[in-house]
Amino acid sequence: MDVTAVLAERVLPDVSLVHGEGVVWRPDRQRLLFVDVPEGRILEADLGTGEVRSVAVPGTVGAVHPTVDPDTLVIADSDGIALLRDGEVQRLAAPLSGRPDMRMNDANVDPAGRYLAGSMAFDQTPGAGCLYRLDPDGTLHTAVGDTTISNGLDWSDDGTHCYYVDSPLRRIDVFDYDVATGALSGRRTFADTSTVAGIPDGLTLDADGGVWVAFFGGGRVCRFTPDGELDTTIELPVSQVTSCCFGGADLTELFVSTSTEGLNEQRLRTQPLAGAIFRAVPGYRGRPSSAFALGKPVAS
Ligand code: CA
Repeated sequence: MDVTAVLAERVLPDVSLVHGEGVVWRPDRQRLLFVDVPEGRILEADLGTGEVRSVAVPGTVGAVHPTVDPDTLVIADSDGIALLRDGEVQRLAAPLSGRPDMRMNDANVDPAGRYLAGSMAFDQTPGAGCLYRLDPDGTLHTAVGDTTISNGLDWSDDGTHCYYVDSPLRRIDVFDYDVATGALSGRRTFADTSTVAGIPDGLTLDADGGVWVAFFGGGRVCRFTPDGELDTTIELPVSQVTSCCFGGADLTELFVSTSTEGLNEQRLRTQPLAGAIFRAVPGYRGRPSSAFALGKPVAS
């Protein structure tokens, strides 16, 4: 199959992140959410006006997502999972409390409003992490154990499949997903990415079931068809590409976060836009993100 190439441009010229991650479009405010992991910074940008709001929390932050309350966000932070309201952190779960060797990483909200968030060791110890699931009733579960760098993740339109990345494995996995219970089963390889430069990182699905994956160290975002075949590549002028999401009024723009983490001075000189947010218009449409259903029973 021929691979289509798509160009990306920088947006938000004032935004330069140390380790940008976790772009998420919030449709209620037509704004882009993302984080700067080591800075503990949560940012919300209006692409139309260029206005960027920023809040810092103690420690690191791996992910941010909307909740059903427009004034409250859910974050995956140093200790676990928390709500963020008016700059105040309200703890929901603290599985990493007393574990300074660990931090939370990528996360997403399932179609029923549950929050799934992965942990990892700072030194990337193999198997030290797991993927947690926080149900809206406040109970915390381990959804997937023995993970190393938990990333991904997103669901098929009907909620029956969950796409997931444990980055060092250099593949995209898919689980069968039970939306009624949040149970994951039948893990298998969706796409082997070992021939793509870099390691797979964040991912998002488009409305046609295509899977868009950021490649950290590979300087690109790739689309895989629902059959797992690579068919589109977006090349970026920076190597460390971390996450992607569809956004904009009609969900046809793909936003991409990038990172400077671990780049030495020489490499930073050759990629001065490392840490910026990029935008591409790849000719596909995304789907609205789900909101964490805090305090509400899970729909069955
Ligand atoms: Ca990531």
